[in-house]
Order: sequence, then C-alpha cells, then structure tokens
Amino acid sequence: MRPTSKALANREPRTANRGRGRDGRRVQSPGFRVSGSDASAKKITTLVARLLDWFARHARDLPWRRTRDPYAIWVSEIMLQQTQVKTVVPYWERWMRELPTLRALAQATPATVHKLWEGLGYYVRVRNLHRAAQEILARSGGQFPQNYDEVLALPGIGRYTAGAICSIAFNQPTPVLDGNVVRVLARLFGIAGDPRARRINARLWHLAELFVARAAQLEARIPRPVPRSGALHHSGACSRLNQSLMELGAVVCTPRKPRCGACPLAGRCVALRTGRVEEFPAPKPRRAALTRRYAAFIVERDGRFLVRQRPAGVVNAHLWEFPNAEAEKGGNDLAALAERTLGTKPTRLREWCSIRHSITQYRIKLDVFAALVEKNPRQWSASSRWKTLAETERLAFTSAHGKIRQRLRAQAGAARMRSRRRGLAPILGA
Ligand code: SF4
Repeated sequence: MRPTSKALANREPRTANRGRGRDGRRVQSPGFRVSGSDASAKKITTLVARLLDWFARHARDLPWRRTRDPYAIWVSEIMLQQTQVKTVVPYWERWMRELPTLRALAQATPATVHKLWEGLGYYVRVRNLHRAAQEILARSGGQFPQNYDEVLALPGIGRYTAGAICSIAFNQPTPVLDGNVVRVLARLFGIAGDPRARRINARLWHLAELFVARAAQLEARIPRPVPRSGALHHSGACSRLNQSLMELGAVVCTPRKPRCGACPLAGRCVALRTGRVEEFPAPKPRRAALTRRYAAFIVERDGRFLVRQRPAGVVNAHLWEFPNAEAEKGGNDLAALAERTLGTKPTRLREWCSIRHSITQYRIKLDVFAALVEKNPRQWSASSRWKTLAETERLAFTSAHGKIRQRLRAQAGAARMRSRRRGLAPILGA
C-alpha cells in the first residue's frame, strides 16, 4: 500500500540548510517562507508526495516517457520548447526513426536535420542540437554526459534543459523551471511579481530545487508505481517529480480556467485559498506587434520553380524559399520590386495568394505573385536553383514559404487535370 502524503510529511527529517540557497544566503518568497520552519518543510514534503502519487495515476503516455535514453529525452525537450505536445509527438517519432542514436544525428547532413525539423520553427534549436551531438561524438564517442555542468555546457542547452535531461534520464535531483512549473509554483505559494525578474526567478528556482531534493530524499520510502500502459512510471522519484510539476501545469493548472477541482495540491494552494488564481503568475509585459510586408514571386519554367537556400548567419539560415523581398513602408512599385528581386523584368505579374504568418512579435503578410518572365532570371542569389515541386518536397522550407509550396501542391493536382502548355506556367496557370 502506498503511504499517504500526510504520513510521509510526518516522517520528514529536518534539513541542515533550510532557508538557504546554493550560495548560502537566506531565501524568502513574497507569499511564503520557502523554508525555515518545520511547517514549510512539511508542506514541501506533502506536496511532493501528492505530486508523485498523482503522476503515477494521471501521467500521459507520451512516447519519450517510454525510454530513459538521454539522447531521446534531449530531443523531446528541445522540440517541446515553445511547441505543444500534440505537435511534437509525430515529429519526435519520425526523428527517432530516422536518427535513432546520437551518432546518427552527429553524422547526418544539415539538410537531413533541417528537413526533419521543418515546421517546428526556431531553427537555431536544431542547429545547436546537431552541433552538440557532433561535440559529444568527438569528445566521448557518443556517450551522453551525465555530469550536470557538462550537459549545461553543450550548445543550445540552458539551465532548464540540463535539469530536465539529468533528472528524467539519470534521476538526478536537478530542478526544472519552465512556464508550466512557474505557473504551478507561483499559484501554489502566492508568488506575486514578474517571474522573470531576477529576485523572483531565483526564488522560483530555489523552490524547484527544494521539491526535487525532497523527492530524492523520499525515493526509498515511496514504492515505485507499477508501469501503466507502457508509460515509464518505473523511473526514479526525481524524474517523476519534475515531470509531475510540468504535467500538472500542462493539463490541470493551465493558464486559463485551471481545473482546481482535479488538482492534487488544491488543499495547499495559496492562490486558490485567497481566490486569486488568475492573478498568478504576473502576465508577461506585451510587446507591441510589428507588421512587416513581403512580396514573393513564383517563377515556373518547364515544370520547375526558382528557389534558393538562405545563407548562413541570417534568420532561417539554410532553409529554402521562393524569390521574395520586403516591401518598403508606404508601398512599392510592384513591377520594379519584382525586377529588382528577379534580375529581369516580368512580362506578367498576377496576384496569386496571400499568406499570413507570425514570428515572435512580428505579424508578417506575404503577398504572392505568379511571375511570367521571358528571359532567364539572372542569378537571384548564388544558391538559387530550379526545382520541380517533387524536388522541393525534399528540402526544408521556411514556414511561410512552406505554405506557398503547400498551395502549389494543391494547385498541381488541379493542373494535372487540365491540358498543359509547354513553356507557360502549367501549375500556376499564369
Ligand atoms: S489548486 Fe488550482 S491554482 Fe492551485 S496549483 Fe492546483 S490547479 Fe493550480
């Protein structure tokens, strides 16, 4: 029989450094004294025990929870940054099929890793993943480091990701603090103020440390739950505790309309008790949205389209796109813009579609034109190529230009139904 959280709280030993951070200074929370009293220590113990119990019964069966391979967990953590679980699952499964080991990733071409990442955005993440895999292969023959500081030193790995990998894969008491954990802790302890502010952020990290450290202490006392439907519940207490905090924030303590009635921590939650759930955490100051307009020109010749690979060192480096240019404020002479972009004057320009896309604070409007050109466009860039639609499918496109390709694909189906005229744009029908 599983011990109750109350029984565990009563069995909790006192810790020697209660109330002090790693640097030895006393740490306090605005809504709750983090430690420094038996009541606080008991509260943490009770919460940890409840979280572990809840996670054993309610954890989602996610594919990366069926493994303790640090490489697989690392890939999932990087993919999950700023992306929803349901979007990540098929990406992760395909990635692990194509690149099942760290060595396979390290030896893959940039084109392969970009293609596998296509649509997830924030491509700097996949480039760092690739670079880090190559570093690990060169340094230790592909053996993933188990030391927290070594993991933290890898490209693209910050405090959160290092903590997640070390706790989930190796069951180390390393804390995690992502948006979900921030929300749970801020509400639970009634922590007001901007969670990104240095002082408050340090307190949240300290709380996260206390939770996972307590889970490590309880490890021997809490029986490991029986694995359920393939989900990895036989992992250690630190692994399960960190995942339970993230899981609670994702499915119960949600940003809007949290399901406090289903929350295992409801009886100890300051925000719920004081009726201020929606007030925590303090909302992110909104950055004003900036609108940017672009024009893209689709040039088709003998069933091939003009595309280019973006150069290194720019946004969306190494990804592919159709010829395009940013429109000047106050409007452009479209024909002149097309000529400047393509290096030749189009004989015909036809409005084809309009794509809307958001990246961080930018609201992008991309007006797409079918361009008919008599002369071969001068090399629009050194990396431009003529590719059939089928060939473009093997290339990783930026999100906005991927939407253009998607429309071309749909139109290609329709174009096959009508007679084709050589030399003119058969898919675009320009
Ligand atoms: S009781 Fe409600 S607000 Fe408090 S932690 Fe649980 S879900 Fe979040």
